[in-house]
Amino acid sequence: MNVPFLDLRRAYLELRPELDAAWRRVMDSGWYILGQEVEAFEAEFAAYCGARFCVGVGNGLEALSLILRAWNIGEGDEVIVPANTYIASWLAVSQVGARPIPVEPESRSANLDPARIETAISARTKAIMAVHLYGLPADMDPILEIANRRGLRVLEDAAQAHGARYHGRRTGRLAHAAGFSFYPSKNLGAFGDGGAVVTDDADLARRVAMLRNYGSEVRYENPVQGGNSRLDELQAAMLRVRLSKLDEWNARRRGCALRYLEALARVPLMLPVEPAGCESAWHLFVIRASQRKALRQFLESRGVGTQIHYPIPPHLQGAYSGLGFPRGSFPVTESIHDAVLSLPIGPHLRDDELDYVVAQLIKGTASP
Ligand SMILES: *Cc1c(COP(=O)(O)O)cnc(C)c1O
Repeated sequence: MNVPFLDLRRAYLELRPELDAAWRRVMDSGWYILGQEVEAFEAEFAAYCGARFCVGVGNGLEALSLILRAWNIGEGDEVIVPANTYIASWLAVSQVGARPIPVEPESRSANLDPARIETAISARTKAIMAVHLYGLPADMDPILEIANRRGLRVLEDAAQAHGARYHGRRTGRLAHAAGFSFYPSKNLGAFGDGGAVVTDDADLARRVAMLRNYGSEVRYENPVQGGNSRLDELQAAMLRVRLSKLDEWNARRRGCALRYLEALARVPLMLPVEPAGCESAWHLFVIRASQRKALRQFLESRGVGTQIHYPIPPHLQGAYSGLGFPRGSFPVTESIHDAVLSLPIGPHLRDDELDYVVAQLIKGTASP
Protein backbone atom coordinates (compact mmCIF):
# COMPACT_ATOMS: atom_id res chain seq x y z
CA MET A 1 0.00 0.00 0.00
CA ASN A 2 1.07 3.58 -0.68
CA VAL A 3 0.07 6.27 1.81
CA PRO A 4 1.17 9.70 0.63
CA PHE A 5 1.95 12.26 3.32
CA LEU A 6 -0.72 14.53 1.85
CA ASP A 7 -3.08 14.28 -1.12
CA LEU A 8 -4.66 17.67 -1.78
CA ARG A 9 -6.57 16.38 -4.79
CA ARG A 10 -8.90 14.40 -2.51
CA ALA A 11 -9.82 17.64 -0.75
CA TYR A 12 -10.80 19.12 -4.11
CA LEU A 13 -12.78 16.09 -5.26
CA GLU A 14 -14.95 15.92 -2.11
CA LEU A 15 -16.37 19.38 -2.83
CA ARG A 16 -15.82 19.53 -6.56
CA PRO A 17 -19.35 20.62 -7.64
CA GLU A 18 -19.53 23.40 -5.01
CA LEU A 19 -15.99 24.60 -5.74
CA ASP A 20 -16.52 24.58 -9.48
CA ALA A 21 -19.76 26.54 -9.04
CA ALA A 22 -17.99 29.11 -6.86
CA TRP A 23 -15.19 29.46 -9.38
CA ARG A 24 -17.66 29.95 -12.22
CA ARG A 25 -19.63 32.51 -10.24
CA VAL A 26 -16.53 34.66 -9.85
CA MET A 27 -15.43 34.22 -13.46
CA ASP A 28 -18.88 35.24 -14.67
CA SER A 29 -19.08 38.24 -12.34
CA GLY A 30 -16.37 40.20 -14.13
CA TRP A 31 -15.04 41.42 -10.75
CA TYR A 32 -11.82 39.84 -9.46
CA ILE A 33 -10.22 41.95 -6.73
CA LEU A 34 -11.78 43.30 -3.48
CA GLY A 35 -15.41 42.56 -4.22
CA GLN A 36 -18.34 40.83 -2.61
CA GLU A 37 -16.71 37.39 -2.27
CA VAL A 38 -13.86 38.80 -0.16
CA GLU A 39 -16.30 40.87 1.86
CA ALA A 40 -18.56 37.88 2.49
CA PHE A 41 -15.64 35.62 3.39
CA GLU A 42 -14.27 38.23 5.81
CA ALA A 43 -17.63 38.40 7.60
CA GLU A 44 -17.99 34.60 7.66
CA PHE A 45 -14.47 33.91 8.90
CA ALA A 46 -14.66 36.61 11.60
CA ALA A 47 -17.93 35.04 12.79
CA TYR A 48 -16.35 31.58 12.72
CA CYS A 49 -13.51 32.76 14.94
CA GLY A 50 -15.92 34.65 17.21
CA ALA A 51 -14.11 37.91 16.42
CA ARG A 52 -15.44 41.23 15.15
CA PHE A 53 -13.19 41.79 12.13
CA CYS A 54 -11.37 39.85 9.44
CA VAL A 55 -9.29 41.42 6.69
CA GLY A 56 -8.28 39.18 3.78
CA VAL A 57 -4.66 39.56 2.69
CA GLY A 58 -2.22 37.98 0.25
CA ASN A 59 -0.71 35.27 2.48
CA GLY A 60 0.03 34.26 6.06
CA LEU A 61 3.45 35.89 6.26
CA GLU A 62 1.99 39.26 5.25
CA ALA A 63 -0.97 38.86 7.62
CA LEU A 64 1.59 38.81 10.45
CA SER A 65 3.80 41.60 9.10
CA LEU A 66 0.77 43.84 8.38
CA ILE A 67 -0.33 43.52 12.02
CA LEU A 68 3.14 44.59 13.17
CA ARG A 69 3.24 47.45 10.66
CA ALA A 70 -0.22 48.63 11.70
CA TRP A 71 1.06 48.75 15.28
CA ASN A 72 3.97 50.92 14.07
CA ILE A 73 6.51 48.29 15.06
CA GLY A 74 9.70 48.62 13.04
CA GLU A 75 13.36 49.62 13.10
CA GLY A 76 14.84 49.50 16.61
CA ASP A 77 11.96 47.45 18.06
CA GLU A 78 12.02 43.87 19.30
CA VAL A 79 9.36 41.18 19.08
CA ILE A 80 9.46 37.98 21.16
CA VAL A 81 9.06 34.93 18.91
CA PRO A 82 9.22 31.19 19.60
CA ALA A 83 12.64 29.72 18.82
CA ASN A 84 10.74 26.61 17.75
CA THR A 85 8.58 27.66 14.82
CA TYR A 86 8.41 27.82 11.06
CA ILE A 87 10.74 30.55 9.81
CA ALA A 88 7.81 32.65 8.47
CA SER A 89 7.01 33.74 12.04
CA TRP A 90 10.47 35.33 12.32
CA LEU A 91 10.43 36.69 8.76
CA ALA A 92 7.29 38.70 9.53
CA VAL A 93 9.21 40.51 12.27
CA SER A 94 12.26 41.04 10.04
CA GLN A 95 10.07 42.32 7.19
CA VAL A 96 9.02 45.36 9.21
CA GLY A 97 12.63 46.03 10.24
CA ALA A 98 12.25 44.82 13.83
CA ARG A 99 14.37 42.17 15.54
CA PRO A 100 13.03 38.70 16.43
CA ILE A 101 13.98 37.70 19.99
CA PRO A 102 13.71 33.92 20.24
CA VAL A 103 12.38 32.18 23.36
CA GLU A 104 12.56 28.44 23.97
CA PRO A 105 9.46 26.20 23.94
CA GLU A 106 8.15 23.88 26.64
CA SER A 107 9.64 20.60 25.56
CA ARG A 108 6.44 18.54 25.69
CA SER A 109 4.01 20.87 23.89
CA ALA A 110 6.73 22.36 21.62
CA ASN A 111 4.98 25.75 22.05
CA LEU A 112 6.38 28.98 23.55
CA ASP A 113 7.31 28.52 27.24
CA PRO A 114 5.69 31.40 29.18
CA ALA A 115 8.16 30.93 32.05
CA ARG A 116 11.03 31.97 29.78
CA ILE A 117 9.49 35.11 28.28
CA GLU A 118 10.23 37.71 30.96
CA THR A 119 14.01 37.43 30.82
CA ALA A 120 13.86 38.07 27.06
CA ILE A 121 11.95 41.34 27.44
CA SER A 122 13.98 44.55 27.05
CA ALA A 123 13.17 48.26 26.84
CA ARG A 124 12.83 47.79 23.07
CA THR A 125 10.30 44.94 23.23
CA LYS A 126 6.96 45.89 21.69
CA ALA A 127 5.09 42.63 21.19
CA ILE A 128 4.98 38.87 21.76
CA MET A 129 4.15 36.52 18.89
CA ALA A 130 2.57 33.26 20.02
CA VAL A 131 2.56 30.47 17.42
CA HIS A 132 0.01 27.65 17.65
CA LEU A 133 2.46 25.11 16.28
CA TYR A 134 1.11 21.96 14.59
CA GLY A 135 -2.42 23.22 15.42
CA LEU A 136 -2.04 23.20 19.22
CA PRO A 137 -2.92 26.53 20.87
CA ALA A 138 -0.05 28.16 22.76
CA ASP A 139 -0.57 28.65 26.51
CA MET A 140 -2.16 32.08 26.11
CA ASP A 141 -3.28 32.95 29.66
CA PRO A 142 0.22 33.31 31.17
CA ILE A 143 1.48 34.95 27.96
CA LEU A 144 -1.28 37.58 28.11
CA GLU A 145 -0.71 38.08 31.84
CA ILE A 146 2.95 38.96 31.19
CA ALA A 147 2.05 41.14 28.21
CA ASN A 148 -0.59 43.08 30.14
CA ARG A 149 1.75 43.62 33.07
CA ARG A 150 4.60 44.78 30.80
CA GLY A 151 2.46 46.83 28.41
CA LEU A 152 3.12 44.63 25.36
CA ARG A 153 0.84 43.58 22.53
CA VAL A 154 0.29 39.93 21.65
CA LEU A 155 -0.32 38.49 18.20
CA GLU A 156 -1.17 34.92 17.30
CA ASP A 157 0.47 33.14 14.40
CA ALA A 158 -2.59 30.97 13.74
CA ALA A 159 -1.42 29.74 10.32
CA GLN A 160 -1.62 26.10 11.49
CA ALA A 161 -4.58 26.36 13.85
CA HIS A 162 -7.85 27.35 12.14
CA GLY A 163 -10.64 26.28 14.48
CA ALA A 164 -8.43 25.18 17.40
CA ARG A 165 -9.72 26.17 20.85
CA TYR A 166 -8.14 27.38 24.07
CA HIS A 167 -10.49 27.20 27.07
CA GLY A 168 -13.43 27.18 24.69
CA ARG A 169 -12.38 30.19 22.62
CA ARG A 170 -11.22 29.82 19.04
CA THR A 171 -7.85 30.96 17.72
CA GLY A 172 -8.17 34.38 16.13
CA ARG A 173 -9.60 35.84 19.31
CA LEU A 174 -7.05 34.68 21.85
CA ALA A 175 -4.91 37.85 21.72
CA HIS A 176 -4.97 41.37 20.27
CA ALA A 177 -4.76 40.15 16.68
CA ALA A 178 -4.10 36.97 14.71
CA GLY A 179 -2.57 36.15 11.36
CA PHE A 180 -3.93 33.18 9.37
CA SER A 181 -2.58 31.50 6.24
CA PHE A 182 -4.73 29.80 3.60
CA TYR A 183 -1.81 28.08 1.88
CA PRO A 184 -3.31 25.00 0.18
CA SER A 185 -2.11 22.46 2.77
CA LYS A 186 -3.42 24.34 5.84
CA ASN A 187 -6.59 23.20 7.64
CA LEU A 188 -8.47 25.90 5.72
CA GLY A 189 -6.64 26.06 2.43
CA ALA A 190 -7.17 27.97 -0.81
CA PHE A 191 -6.04 26.97 -4.32
CA GLY A 192 -3.15 29.39 -4.22
CA ASP A 193 -1.88 31.87 -1.67
CA GLY A 194 -4.13 33.68 0.79
CA GLY A 195 -4.20 34.95 4.34
CA ALA A 196 -6.20 36.97 6.84
CA VAL A 197 -5.88 39.21 9.86
CA VAL A 198 -8.51 38.60 12.56
CA THR A 199 -9.08 41.01 15.44
CA ASP A 200 -11.65 42.65 17.71
CA ASP A 201 -9.86 45.99 17.30
CA ALA A 202 -11.72 48.21 14.81
CA ASP A 203 -8.81 50.62 14.43
CA LEU A 204 -6.32 47.84 13.71
CA ALA A 205 -8.68 46.23 11.18
CA ARG A 206 -9.04 49.56 9.40
CA ARG A 207 -5.28 50.17 9.31
CA VAL A 208 -4.57 46.68 7.96
CA ALA A 209 -7.30 47.14 5.31
CA MET A 210 -5.54 50.33 4.18
CA LEU A 211 -2.03 48.88 4.31
CA ARG A 212 -3.01 45.86 2.16
CA ASN A 213 -4.29 48.23 -0.55
CA TYR A 214 -1.61 50.91 -1.19
CA GLY A 215 -2.48 52.74 2.03
CA SER A 216 -5.84 53.70 0.59
CA GLU A 217 -9.36 53.64 1.96
CA VAL A 218 -10.96 55.94 -0.56
CA ARG A 219 -9.88 55.19 -4.11
CA TYR A 220 -6.86 57.25 -5.25
CA GLU A 221 -6.43 58.82 -1.82
CA ASN A 222 -3.33 57.50 -0.03
CA PRO A 223 -2.79 58.97 3.43
CA VAL A 224 -0.16 56.31 4.29
CA GLN A 225 2.40 54.32 2.27
CA GLY A 226 0.81 50.89 2.01
CA GLY A 227 1.63 47.79 0.00
CA ASN A 228 -0.34 45.38 -2.14
CA SER A 229 -1.41 42.25 -0.28
CA ARG A 230 -4.98 41.33 -1.14
CA LEU A 231 -6.93 38.11 -0.95
CA ASP A 232 -8.50 37.74 -4.40
CA GLU A 233 -12.12 37.03 -5.25
CA LEU A 234 -11.46 33.54 -6.64
CA GLN A 235 -9.66 32.37 -3.51
CA ALA A 236 -12.28 33.98 -1.26
CA ALA A 237 -15.09 32.18 -3.10
CA MET A 238 -13.29 28.83 -2.71
CA LEU A 239 -12.54 29.52 0.94
CA ARG A 240 -16.23 30.21 1.62
CA VAL A 241 -17.09 26.72 0.34
CA ARG A 242 -14.40 25.13 2.46
CA LEU A 243 -15.14 27.17 5.59
CA SER A 244 -18.55 25.52 5.76
CA LYS A 245 -16.72 22.17 6.06
CA LEU A 246 -13.93 23.23 8.40
CA ASP A 247 -15.45 21.90 11.62
CA GLU A 248 -16.27 18.56 10.02
CA TRP A 249 -12.80 18.30 8.50
CA ASN A 250 -11.14 19.21 11.80
CA ALA A 251 -13.26 16.54 13.51
CA ARG A 252 -12.00 14.00 10.98
CA ARG A 253 -8.42 15.12 11.71
CA ARG A 254 -9.16 14.63 15.42
CA GLY A 255 -10.43 11.14 14.65
CA CYS A 256 -7.10 10.28 12.97
CA ALA A 257 -5.15 11.75 15.89
CA LEU A 258 -7.11 9.78 18.50
CA ARG A 259 -6.62 6.54 16.56
CA TYR A 260 -2.87 7.16 16.34
CA LEU A 261 -2.65 8.05 20.04
CA GLU A 262 -4.46 4.89 21.06
CA ALA A 263 -2.73 2.54 18.65
CA LEU A 264 0.77 3.89 19.32
CA ALA A 265 0.49 4.27 23.10
CA ARG A 266 2.89 1.39 23.77
CA VAL A 267 5.27 2.03 20.89
CA PRO A 268 8.65 3.57 21.88
CA LEU A 269 7.95 7.00 20.38
CA MET A 270 7.11 10.35 21.94
CA LEU A 271 3.53 11.21 20.98
CA PRO A 272 1.97 14.68 20.73
CA VAL A 273 -0.03 15.99 23.70
CA GLU A 274 -3.18 18.07 24.05
CA PRO A 275 -2.88 19.87 27.42
CA ALA A 276 -6.04 20.39 29.51
CA GLY A 277 -8.17 23.22 28.12
CA CYS A 278 -6.67 22.89 24.62
CA GLU A 279 -8.37 21.51 21.56
CA SER A 280 -5.81 21.12 18.79
CA ALA A 281 -6.71 21.61 15.14
CA TRP A 282 -4.36 18.66 14.46
CA HIS A 283 -2.80 20.37 11.47
CA LEU A 284 0.09 17.94 11.83
CA PHE A 285 0.58 14.75 13.84
CA VAL A 286 4.17 15.00 14.98
CA ILE A 287 5.92 12.18 16.79
CA ARG A 288 9.48 12.23 18.09
CA ALA A 289 11.78 9.32 17.39
CA SER A 290 15.31 8.85 18.67
CA GLN A 291 16.18 6.90 15.49
CA ARG A 292 14.32 9.24 13.17
CA LYS A 293 16.41 8.72 10.05
CA ALA A 294 16.15 4.93 10.14
CA LEU A 295 12.43 5.02 10.96
CA ARG A 296 11.74 7.48 8.15
CA GLN A 297 13.64 5.29 5.68
CA PHE A 298 11.79 2.20 6.85
CA LEU A 299 8.41 3.92 6.43
CA GLU A 300 9.46 5.21 3.02
CA SER A 301 10.39 1.67 1.95
CA ARG A 302 6.90 0.55 3.00
CA GLY A 303 5.23 3.31 1.00
CA VAL A 304 4.41 5.62 3.91
CA GLY A 305 5.14 9.29 3.24
CA THR A 306 6.40 11.43 6.13
CA GLN A 307 7.75 14.95 6.51
CA ILE A 308 9.98 16.77 8.99
CA HIS A 309 8.54 19.97 10.47
CA TYR A 310 11.15 21.34 10.59
CA PRO A 311 14.67 20.05 9.86
CA ILE A 312 16.54 23.32 10.65
CA PRO A 313 15.39 25.85 13.27
CA PRO A 314 15.32 29.54 12.23
CA HIS A 315 18.33 30.50 14.38
CA LEU A 316 20.54 28.02 12.48
CA GLN A 317 19.35 29.13 9.03
CA GLY A 318 21.65 31.18 6.81
CA ALA A 319 18.95 33.85 6.78
CA TYR A 320 19.58 34.48 10.49
CA SER A 321 23.33 33.86 10.70
CA GLY A 322 23.61 37.62 11.28
CA LEU A 323 21.95 37.27 14.69
CA GLY A 324 24.91 35.17 15.81
CA PHE A 325 23.25 32.16 17.43
CA PRO A 326 25.56 29.13 17.13
CA ARG A 327 24.34 25.53 17.51
CA GLY A 328 23.56 24.98 21.17
CA SER A 329 21.98 28.41 21.65
CA PHE A 330 18.48 26.94 21.96
CA PRO A 331 18.93 23.33 23.09
CA VAL A 332 15.22 22.54 23.62
CA THR A 333 14.40 23.76 20.12
CA GLU A 334 17.34 21.92 18.62
CA SER A 335 16.45 18.63 20.31
CA ILE A 336 12.88 18.92 19.01
CA HIS A 337 14.13 19.61 15.48
CA ASP A 338 16.44 16.60 15.68
CA ALA A 339 13.64 14.15 16.56
CA VAL A 340 10.34 15.25 14.99
CA LEU A 341 8.61 13.27 12.26
CA SER A 342 5.18 14.12 10.86
CA LEU A 343 2.85 11.24 10.00
CA PRO A 344 0.10 11.40 7.37
CA ILE A 345 -3.02 13.06 8.81
CA GLY A 346 -5.99 14.85 7.34
CA PRO A 347 -9.71 14.72 6.64
CA HIS A 348 -9.11 12.48 3.63
CA LEU A 349 -6.86 9.86 5.17
CA ARG A 350 -8.81 6.57 5.03
CA ASP A 351 -9.09 4.17 7.98
CA ASP A 352 -7.30 1.39 6.10
CA GLU A 353 -4.44 3.78 5.31
CA LEU A 354 -4.20 4.85 8.93
CA ASP A 355 -4.17 1.23 10.11
CA TYR A 356 -1.43 0.51 7.60
CA VAL A 357 0.69 3.41 8.87
CA VAL A 358 0.23 2.17 12.45
CA ALA A 359 1.24 -1.37 11.50
CA GLN A 360 4.40 -0.11 9.79
CA LEU A 361 5.29 2.08 12.78
CA ILE A 362 4.97 -0.92 15.10
CA LYS A 363 7.26 -2.93 12.81
CA GLY A 364 9.69 -0.06 12.33
CA THR A 365 10.15 0.50 16.06
CA ALA A 366 10.25 -3.14 17.23
CA SER A 367 13.59 -4.06 18.75
CA PRO A 368 15.45 -6.57 16.54
C1 LIG B 1 2.29 28.53 6.72
C2 LIG B 1 2.81 29.31 7.86
C3 LIG B 1 3.07 30.69 7.78
C4 LIG B 1 3.08 31.45 6.49
O1 LIG B 1 1.94 31.39 5.71
P1 LIG B 1 2.04 31.65 4.14
O2 LIG B 1 0.62 31.80 3.73
O3 LIG B 1 2.72 30.48 3.53
O4 LIG B 1 2.82 32.92 3.95
C5 LIG B 1 3.42 31.36 8.93
N1 LIG B 1 3.55 30.72 10.11
C6 LIG B 1 3.35 29.40 10.22
C7 LIG B 1 3.50 28.77 11.57
C8 LIG B 1 2.99 28.64 9.11
O5 LIG B 1 2.81 27.33 9.23
